[in-house]
Amino acid sequence: MVDLNELLTRSITQLNERIDQACKRSGRSRDELTVVAVTKTVAPEVMQAAINAGIGHIGENRIQEAQEKLPLIQSDVTKHLIGNVQSNKARFVPQLFDWVHSVYRLKIARALGRHAESQGKVVQALIQVDQVGDEGKHGARPEEVAQLAQGMSEINGIKVRGLMTMAPFTDDEGRIRETFRAVRHLAQTIDQMNIPGISMDQLSMGMSGDFHIAIEEGATMIRVGSVLFGSRPPAT
Ligand SMILES: *Cc1c(COP(=O)(O)O)cnc(C)c1O
Repeated sequence: MVDLNELLTRSITQLNERIDQACKRSGRSRDELTVVAVTKTVAPEVMQAAINAGIGHIGENRIQEAQEKLPLIQSDVTKHLIGNVQSNKARFVPQLFDWVHSVYRLKIARALGRHAESQGKVVQALIQVDQVGDEGKHGARPEEVAQLAQGMSEINGIKVRGLMTMAPFTDDEGRIRETFRAVRHLAQTIDQMNIPGISMDQLSMGMSGDFHIAIEEGATMIRVGSVLFGSRPPAT
Protein backbone atom coordinates (compact mmCIF):
# COMPACT_ATOMS: atom_id res chain seq x y z
CA MET A 1 0.00 0.00 0.00
CA VAL A 2 1.24 3.47 -0.86
CA ASP A 3 1.79 5.70 2.11
CA LEU A 4 -0.40 8.83 2.26
CA ASN A 5 2.52 11.12 3.07
CA GLU A 6 4.49 9.73 0.17
CA LEU A 7 1.53 10.17 -2.19
CA LEU A 8 1.00 13.80 -1.14
CA THR A 9 4.70 14.59 -1.29
CA ARG A 10 4.73 13.24 -4.83
CA SER A 11 1.70 15.24 -5.98
CA ILE A 12 3.05 18.43 -4.38
CA THR A 13 6.40 17.90 -6.12
CA GLN A 14 4.67 17.35 -9.46
CA LEU A 15 2.54 20.45 -8.96
CA ASN A 16 5.60 22.51 -8.09
CA GLU A 17 7.34 21.34 -11.24
CA ARG A 18 4.39 22.44 -13.37
CA ILE A 19 4.26 25.78 -11.53
CA ASP A 20 7.98 26.33 -12.10
CA GLN A 21 7.51 25.63 -15.81
CA ALA A 22 4.63 28.10 -16.09
CA CYS A 23 6.66 30.73 -14.21
CA LYS A 24 9.62 30.16 -16.49
CA ARG A 25 7.46 30.36 -19.65
CA SER A 26 6.04 33.70 -18.53
CA GLY A 27 9.18 35.16 -16.99
CA ARG A 28 7.64 35.32 -13.54
CA SER A 29 9.15 34.71 -10.13
CA ARG A 30 7.91 31.70 -8.17
CA ASP A 31 8.09 33.86 -5.03
CA GLU A 32 5.11 35.96 -6.07
CA LEU A 33 2.83 32.92 -6.27
CA THR A 34 0.80 31.39 -3.43
CA VAL A 35 -0.61 27.89 -3.77
CA VAL A 36 -3.91 27.49 -1.93
CA ALA A 37 -4.63 23.78 -1.50
CA VAL A 38 -8.39 23.37 -1.79
CA THR A 39 -9.42 20.86 0.85
CA LYS A 40 -13.19 20.74 0.41
CA THR A 41 -14.44 17.16 0.99
CA VAL A 42 -10.90 16.19 2.10
CA ALA A 43 -10.67 14.52 5.52
CA PRO A 44 -8.83 16.37 8.31
CA GLU A 45 -6.11 13.71 8.56
CA VAL A 46 -5.36 14.05 4.85
CA MET A 47 -5.29 17.84 5.25
CA GLN A 48 -2.85 17.46 8.11
CA ALA A 49 -0.67 15.14 6.03
CA ALA A 50 -0.63 17.70 3.19
CA ILE A 51 0.41 20.42 5.64
CA ASN A 52 3.15 18.17 6.97
CA ALA A 53 4.30 17.68 3.38
CA GLY A 54 4.71 21.44 2.92
CA ILE A 55 1.30 22.98 2.20
CA GLY A 56 1.06 26.38 3.92
CA HIS A 57 -2.30 27.63 2.65
CA ILE A 58 -5.59 25.77 2.65
CA GLY A 59 -8.91 26.74 1.09
CA GLU A 60 -12.42 25.64 1.99
CA ASN A 61 -15.59 26.60 0.15
CA ARG A 62 -18.20 25.88 2.81
CA ILE A 63 -18.28 27.57 6.19
CA GLN A 64 -20.06 24.68 7.87
CA GLU A 65 -17.51 22.12 6.68
CA ALA A 66 -14.70 24.44 7.78
CA GLN A 67 -16.24 24.75 11.24
CA GLU A 68 -16.08 20.99 11.58
CA LYS A 69 -12.60 20.43 10.18
CA LEU A 70 -10.41 23.46 10.83
CA PRO A 71 -10.35 23.09 14.64
CA LEU A 72 -8.82 19.63 14.09
CA ILE A 73 -5.82 21.07 12.23
CA GLN A 74 -2.91 21.55 14.61
CA SER A 75 -0.47 23.44 12.42
CA ASP A 76 -0.14 27.13 11.84
CA VAL A 77 -1.50 27.43 8.33
CA THR A 78 -3.14 30.29 6.45
CA LYS A 79 -6.84 29.66 5.88
CA HIS A 80 -8.79 30.87 2.87
CA LEU A 81 -12.53 30.90 2.32
CA ILE A 82 -13.10 30.49 -1.41
CA GLY A 83 -16.86 29.87 -1.46
CA ASN A 84 -19.94 32.00 -1.16
CA VAL A 85 -20.68 33.72 2.16
CA GLN A 86 -24.32 33.74 3.25
CA SER A 87 -25.19 36.60 5.58
CA ASN A 88 -26.32 34.27 8.39
CA LYS A 89 -22.85 32.65 8.45
CA ALA A 90 -20.72 35.80 8.14
CA ARG A 91 -20.11 35.96 11.86
CA PHE A 92 -18.16 32.69 11.79
CA VAL A 93 -15.76 33.78 9.06
CA PRO A 94 -13.22 36.02 10.87
CA GLN A 95 -12.48 33.42 13.53
CA LEU A 96 -12.04 30.64 10.95
CA PHE A 97 -10.30 32.35 8.05
CA ASP A 98 -7.49 34.81 7.30
CA TRP A 99 -8.58 35.43 3.71
CA VAL A 100 -11.93 35.52 1.91
CA HIS A 101 -11.75 35.25 -1.89
CA SER A 102 -15.44 35.48 -2.53
CA VAL A 103 -16.80 38.87 -1.52
CA TYR A 104 -19.01 40.55 -4.08
CA ARG A 105 -21.83 42.21 -2.20
CA LEU A 106 -21.48 45.29 -0.02
CA LYS A 107 -23.98 43.92 2.47
CA ILE A 108 -21.85 40.82 3.07
CA ALA A 109 -18.67 42.90 3.17
CA ARG A 110 -20.23 45.07 5.88
CA ALA A 111 -21.26 42.02 7.91
CA LEU A 112 -17.77 40.51 7.60
CA GLY A 113 -16.17 43.79 8.62
CA ARG A 114 -18.45 44.26 11.60
CA HIS A 115 -17.77 40.77 12.95
CA ALA A 116 -14.05 40.98 12.26
CA GLU A 117 -13.79 44.31 14.03
CA SER A 118 -15.67 43.04 17.07
CA GLN A 119 -13.19 40.15 17.25
CA GLY A 120 -10.20 42.46 16.85
CA LYS A 121 -9.33 41.01 13.45
CA VAL A 122 -8.83 42.19 9.89
CA VAL A 123 -9.97 39.86 7.12
CA GLN A 124 -7.96 40.00 3.89
CA ALA A 125 -10.55 40.15 1.11
CA LEU A 126 -10.67 39.60 -2.61
CA ILE A 127 -13.56 40.77 -4.74
CA GLN A 128 -14.96 37.89 -6.78
CA VAL A 129 -15.54 38.89 -10.38
CA ASP A 130 -18.00 37.14 -12.66
CA GLN A 131 -16.15 38.12 -15.80
CA VAL A 132 -18.19 36.07 -18.24
CA GLY A 133 -21.71 36.52 -16.88
CA ASP A 134 -22.41 32.80 -16.88
CA GLU A 135 -25.80 31.70 -15.64
CA GLY A 136 -25.71 30.99 -11.93
CA LYS A 137 -22.15 32.21 -11.38
CA HIS A 138 -21.28 34.11 -8.23
CA GLY A 139 -19.44 37.39 -8.41
CA ALA A 140 -19.77 41.04 -9.28
CA ARG A 141 -19.95 41.97 -12.94
CA PRO A 142 -16.80 43.79 -14.09
CA GLU A 143 -18.57 47.12 -14.39
CA GLU A 144 -19.69 46.91 -10.74
CA VAL A 145 -16.27 46.24 -9.25
CA ALA A 146 -14.94 49.80 -8.98
CA GLN A 147 -17.94 50.97 -7.03
CA LEU A 148 -17.83 47.91 -4.82
CA ALA A 149 -14.14 48.51 -4.06
CA GLN A 150 -14.97 52.12 -3.23
CA GLY A 151 -17.69 50.99 -0.83
CA MET A 152 -15.49 48.33 0.75
CA SER A 153 -12.69 50.85 1.32
CA GLU A 154 -14.89 52.48 3.97
CA ILE A 155 -15.41 49.29 5.97
CA ASN A 156 -13.20 48.57 8.97
CA GLY A 157 -12.21 44.98 9.70
CA ILE A 158 -11.82 44.10 6.05
CA LYS A 159 -8.92 44.91 3.74
CA VAL A 160 -9.34 44.61 -0.02
CA ARG A 161 -6.24 43.02 -1.55
CA GLY A 162 -7.29 42.20 -5.10
CA LEU A 163 -9.63 40.18 -7.30
CA MET A 164 -10.66 36.56 -7.68
CA THR A 165 -12.29 34.87 -10.64
CA MET A 166 -13.25 31.50 -12.01
CA ALA A 167 -12.78 30.66 -15.67
CA PRO A 168 -15.82 29.71 -17.76
CA PHE A 169 -16.68 26.01 -18.07
CA THR A 170 -15.08 25.33 -21.43
CA ASP A 171 -12.26 23.46 -23.12
CA ASP A 172 -11.46 26.57 -25.12
CA GLU A 173 -8.10 27.65 -23.71
CA GLY A 174 -8.33 30.93 -25.57
CA ARG A 175 -11.52 31.88 -23.78
CA ILE A 176 -10.05 30.89 -20.41
CA ARG A 177 -6.97 33.00 -21.12
CA GLU A 178 -9.10 35.96 -22.21
CA THR A 179 -11.07 35.76 -18.96
CA PHE A 180 -7.97 35.79 -16.77
CA ARG A 181 -6.43 38.59 -18.81
CA ALA A 182 -9.55 40.72 -18.57
CA VAL A 183 -9.61 40.34 -14.79
CA ARG A 184 -5.95 41.33 -14.56
CA HIS A 185 -6.69 44.44 -16.61
CA LEU A 186 -9.65 45.21 -14.36
CA ALA A 187 -7.34 45.02 -11.32
CA GLN A 188 -4.94 47.44 -13.02
CA THR A 189 -7.78 49.85 -13.78
CA ILE A 190 -8.94 49.80 -10.19
CA ASP A 191 -5.39 50.15 -8.90
CA GLN A 192 -5.02 53.31 -10.96
CA MET A 193 -8.06 54.83 -9.25
CA ASN A 194 -5.97 55.03 -6.05
CA ILE A 195 -8.87 54.30 -3.75
CA PRO A 196 -7.63 54.84 -0.18
CA GLY A 197 -6.94 51.59 1.68
CA ILE A 198 -7.52 49.40 -1.38
CA SER A 199 -4.71 47.44 -2.95
CA MET A 200 -4.83 45.22 -6.01
CA ASP A 201 -1.66 43.22 -5.37
CA GLN A 202 -3.37 39.80 -5.43
CA LEU A 203 -5.10 37.94 -8.26
CA SER A 204 -6.67 34.62 -7.29
CA MET A 205 -7.18 32.75 -10.55
CA GLY A 206 -6.63 29.24 -11.78
CA MET A 207 -7.68 25.79 -10.57
CA SER A 208 -6.34 22.29 -11.28
CA GLY A 209 -7.34 22.39 -14.95
CA ASP A 210 -6.18 25.88 -15.81
CA PHE A 211 -3.62 27.14 -13.27
CA HIS A 212 -0.85 27.07 -15.88
CA ILE A 213 -2.82 29.56 -17.98
CA ALA A 214 -3.64 31.67 -14.92
CA ILE A 215 0.05 31.90 -13.96
CA GLU A 216 0.92 33.02 -17.48
CA GLU A 217 -1.79 35.69 -17.19
CA GLY A 218 -0.60 37.09 -13.87
CA ALA A 219 -2.24 35.07 -11.07
CA THR A 220 -0.61 35.47 -7.67
CA MET A 221 -2.79 32.84 -5.99
CA ILE A 222 -3.89 29.56 -7.53
CA ARG A 223 -6.58 27.41 -5.91
CA VAL A 224 -5.93 23.75 -6.59
CA GLY A 225 -7.74 20.75 -5.20
CA SER A 226 -8.02 17.68 -7.41
CA VAL A 227 -4.46 17.92 -8.73
CA LEU A 228 -3.31 17.35 -5.13
CA PHE A 229 -6.02 15.19 -3.60
CA GLY A 230 -7.56 13.39 -6.56
CA SER A 231 -11.05 13.89 -7.94
CA ARG A 232 -13.90 14.63 -5.57
CA PRO A 233 -17.29 13.01 -5.35
CA PRO A 234 -19.80 15.09 -7.37
CA ALA A 235 -21.11 18.13 -5.47
CA THR A 236 -24.46 17.65 -3.77
C1 LIG B 1 -13.23 23.45 -5.72
C2 LIG B 1 -12.69 24.78 -6.02
C3 LIG B 1 -11.39 24.95 -6.53
C4 LIG B 1 -10.47 23.80 -6.82
O1 LIG B 1 -10.92 23.03 -7.87
P1 LIG B 1 -9.99 21.88 -8.55
O2 LIG B 1 -10.48 21.79 -9.92
O3 LIG B 1 -10.20 20.65 -7.74
O4 LIG B 1 -8.59 22.36 -8.46
C5 LIG B 1 -10.95 26.24 -6.76
N1 LIG B 1 -11.73 27.32 -6.52
C6 LIG B 1 -12.97 27.20 -6.04
C7 LIG B 1 -13.77 28.43 -5.81
C8 LIG B 1 -13.50 25.95 -5.77
O5 LIG B 1 -14.75 25.83 -5.29
